[in-house]
Parts: sequence; C-alpha cells; structure tokens
Amino acid sequence: MTQFPAIQLRKVQFDPTKVRRDFPILQTKSHGHPLIYLDNGATTQKPRAVIDAISHYYEAQNANVHRGVYELSQIATQAYETARATVQRFIHAADSAEIIFTRGTTESINLVASSWSRAFLKAGDEVIVSALEHHSNIVPWQMACELAGAKLRVIPMNDAGELLMDEFAKLLNPRTKMVAVNHLSNSLGTINPVEEIIQQAHAVGAMVLIDGAQWVAHSPTDVQKLNADFYCFSGHKLFGPTGIGVLYGKRAILEAMPPFMGGGDMIRSVTFEKTEYADLPNKFEAGTPDICGAIGLGAAIDYVMGIGFENFEPYVDELLAYATEKLSAIQGLRIIGTASHKAGVISFVMDDPVISPLDLGTQLDSQGIAVRTGHHCCQPVMDRFKINATTRASFAMYNTREDVDALVTALKKIIGAFAAKSPAVVAPKSMELKYPSATAASPELAADQLAEVFEFLGDRDARNEYLLELGEKLLPLPAGLKTDAARVHGCMSTVHVVGHRRAGDGHRLDFLGDSDAHIVRGLIAVVQKLFAGQEAKAILAFDVQAFFQRIGLEQFVSAQRRNGLQGMVQRIRDLAGKIEFAKNL
Ligand code: PMP
Repeated sequence: MTQFPAIQLRKVQFDPTKVRRDFPILQTKSHGHPLIYLDNGATTQKPRAVIDAISHYYEAQNANVHRGVYELSQIATQAYETARATVQRFIHAADSAEIIFTRGTTESINLVASSWSRAFLKAGDEVIVSALEHHSNIVPWQMACELAGAKLRVIPMNDAGELLMDEFAKLLNPRTKMVAVNHLSNSLGTINPVEEIIQQAHAVGAMVLIDGAQWVAHSPTDVQKLNADFYCFSGHKLFGPTGIGVLYGKRAILEAMPPFMGGGDMIRSVTFEKTEYADLPNKFEAGTPDICGAIGLGAAIDYVMGIGFENFEPYVDELLAYATEKLSAIQGLRIIGTASHKAGVISFVMDDPVISPLDLGTQLDSQGIAVRTGHHCCQPVMDRFKINATTRASFAMYNTREDVDALVTALKKIIGAFAAKSPAVVAPKSMELKYPSATAASPELAADQLAEVFEFLGDRDARNEYLLELGEKLLPLPAGLKTDAARVHGCMSTVHVVGHRRAGDGHRLDFLGDSDAHIVRGLIAVVQKLFAGQEAKAILAFDVQAFFQRIGLEQFVSAQRRNGLQGMVQRIRDLAGKIEFAKNL
C-alpha cells in the first residue's frame, strides 16, 4: 500500500448533478456504457453556454476583427475585446493590453522563449525549469538556450514529487535570467510553491514565467498578487474551446520585447524600408486571431465564475482525497506523486500484478471510462520515477464519487482478470531462441487469413480480447536481447524488436518482439503472423496500413497514438530493407 500523508475527507456542499446537466457530452455513451470522463488534465468538456456562444458567433457575429468599418465587424471586434477584458478580470491583470491571445499554453511559452530570449538572453546566462515540467515548458527553453549559448538548469524533486526548494535556492545566481515553472503539475498533481519561487527569482533579478495550464481551472489566479512576469494557460483546459490560449505579461516587459510573428494586425505602418509595430496587445497577435475561440473562452470563464471557485474547488479537492483513499487501498497499486499539496490529478502504476498503463487504459476504455495513459508529455518525470508511463485520472467539477467508484470497480475487475491468468510464459535463454515460421506463402495470404479471423470476431471488444489472448501466448524476449538498440522508441509502452536474415535462406526475415503491454504483445503477434519468415522483398511491397484498416486496427495505427505498432512495423521494414540492400550489393 502506498504511504502518504493522512487524508482528511471533508463533507462539502456542492451538487455536481446540476453542473453535469450543463455538459451535453456527459449524457452520451462510450462503447455502450455511460461516459465516465476522467481525463480533464488533457482537456475539459464544454458546457452548453460555451457551445452556444460559439454557435451564436458564427450565426450572428462572424466578421474579421479590427478592420471593418461595417457594423458586423464592429460587433465581432467588440465581442473579441470583451473576451479579453473577461480574461483580464479572471486573472486580475492590471491592464487588458497585458492579455495576449495565443493558440494555447504551448504557444504562449514559445512566444516568450522566442521573443523575450531574442532580446534578453545572452551567452553565459542561465534559465531554470523544474523536473516537474511539461515538455512545452522544457523544449522551448532548450531551443532558446541553444540559440543564445545559455545554460538550462533544473530544480530537482523528491520521491513525493515536490520540488526541492533548497536546491532551487542553490541554483539561483546573478546569471539566472528566467525561471519557468508550472503552478500545478499535470503528471503528478503537485501544487508548486510559485509565490516563493517568484520572490526568490526576483531577488536575483530573474524573470518568472508560470505555466498555469492546470491551475486556472482549479483555483482563482491573481497575477498581480503573485507578481508573475508571465502567466500562460489554455482555453480548452478551462471548459473553453481548443485553439485559444492566453499569455499574460507585465506591460513594461511585453513592450520591451520584439514581436513573435510578423503579419497583419501587428503593425502600425509598413514600408519596405521600415515597419512600425502596433501597440500591445496587437503587437503579439499577428494575423486573424481565433476570434470565435476567444469568445468561447470568455463564455467559459463567465460559466466558471458563475459557479464560483469557492463552491467547486473544495468539492474537487474532496473528490481527489476520496479517489486517493480508494485507489491506495487497492493491493499492488502504487500512486506516483504523493505531495502534501496536490490537486485534481492522481497518477498510478500497477506493480502486482504488473499491468502496463496502456493495457489498463484500453480495458477501462472498453467500460466507458476515459483516463490518460502514457508519459503525459513529462518524460523527465517518468525517468525520475524509473517508469515509462502512468495511468492518470484527473478530475473536474462535474465528476462524482460514483465516477471514482466505477473506476475502482473496473480496476479491481481488470486486476482480478490479469491475476487469474496463467503465469507469463517464461522467456527462453537466447541460445534456445526459436523464430516463428511463416504462417502462409506470402504476406498477402497471411493477411487474408488474419482478415478472416478479425471479420469473424466482429466487434471491437472481441478483437481486443483476441489481441490480448495472442499477447499472452507470445514468447517473451530473453532479457539479454532487450537492449537499447532493439528498443522501438517513441511508444507509450516498452517495445523491443530483434531480427536478422534467416540462416540458410538469406532472403527471408526472422524476427521476435516483446512489450510490457499485453495489447501491444498481441499486436506483435499479429505482425509476426503477417511477416515472420517472409521474404524481405515481399515485406517491403506489402501495404501494411491498408491491412490494419482492413482488420479494424485503426485505433492502434496512428503515429500519434504512439502505442508501438507503427514504430514496430517501421523497424521490421528497416530490417527487411537491410536484407534487400545486402542482397543487391
Ligand atoms: N503545461 C501543462 C502543465 C499542461 O498540462 C499542458 C497540457 N497538458 C501544457 C502545458 C500544454 O498545453 P497545450 O497543449 O494546451 O498548449
């Protein structure tokens, strides 16, 4: 059982049933079950008020902003600028010109990392981020540091997922020019002591950017009180639309920065000799903005403020405490991220029986429960805990104790089924390695056989079940062969593929694969049936994408899903390519 501070379960007066009625999607089903949406850290659902604001904009207000002399354009401009004023009030900025609309947190951070760094980051300077950052608050700073010749330094964290403030103090020095940290961690749910971070960074003359992507929907934000130099967030994690986000910056700093992008709307005058830039905020909003997105975000903020943080924040905190209590009571489940100040997010792994997050996520999905699995765009966090991925449930005001109970019941069922399975087939020693032979005379014929099976199975659940069964039977790779060279990187699960030309028939490819996720092991088995022992030339000529579509594996195919199938097939094609290349030498 996981050890962490005692939880206070409070009785909180807030009725989520009324709120739930505002979200049409929560009345829908997923795989025949009522949708239980626990992926609010990735994006939140949209209330009717936001959907209506978006429809109304396109039905009655659509025109380009800032340009037209006609009434409709003025209506659109007014609605867009009203949304800016709403954001200003929401985060208590001193001036609406300090609110820059962007595409989201990622673009806001990139804007600062690009534009501010161009003017103010020099060789030998230092930028500090934390070990808890989302990739979008790491990579832009790495790029900026590389360009400027500056150094990126990292605040470490402890085993609970809390930043080590003593270490932070040691990192600060007169060369520190920027400190960029998140307010609330998306991977572990840690609330970071941003007030303290800002004070200490300012004491050495550094700027501070706060990534508030997860925070703004959880608690009130006051950028003036915080004294943050920059504050970033996304509309879609705040019950608003995707494609819109906010960069708040202090006026004097934004004025001193060069523009991020050039184009229409960000200029005062243009000649071929010289362009004068527009005042804030337009200087940073080149091109036609996401007008409708801003209006939708304004509606989302009005909605949230209408309900009131004071009403739903204690409720969501209590829900997290309840989920923590219930999940930590599950034998073999380990919660990752046990900070004393946490909000909204619970991440965990299954140690006994070992169940990969991908398998858990896939099985929960088949019961209508949407959770996130993977590294959550926080690979350094996963590395810190020596894991590849977690399963994460993240909560919003419309979630209920019943949602948590359904998650716990489903988890127990999945764990029970895994535990009841026969112990995993023992990995052979490498000298005993047996490569599977071809299942048919060509990949095309093997494909026909597989297609027949999948057609017979029919629905998605039966196909998933079949994949899991195949995965169970797949012979594990010996540990010695699971080298970094054999690893297929970029997958949500750990995948290894080893292969070479067949001894005695150098035109054919022998290969084996393995993964920590049963579902991926099943996919490996399918790929083996298709390609194992086949001629390299035939493997290269086979249209594998079309085949995956044919047997209904679209859900596993897209590169974005990063579940291994695509990478695995590419590795096999690379191996086949090498055989063909050698043959033609
Ligand atoms: N930072 C944090 C803490 C996040 O959770 C996210 C989204 N998961 C981002 C940044 C990036 O946000 P977006 O994709 O909306 O730009």
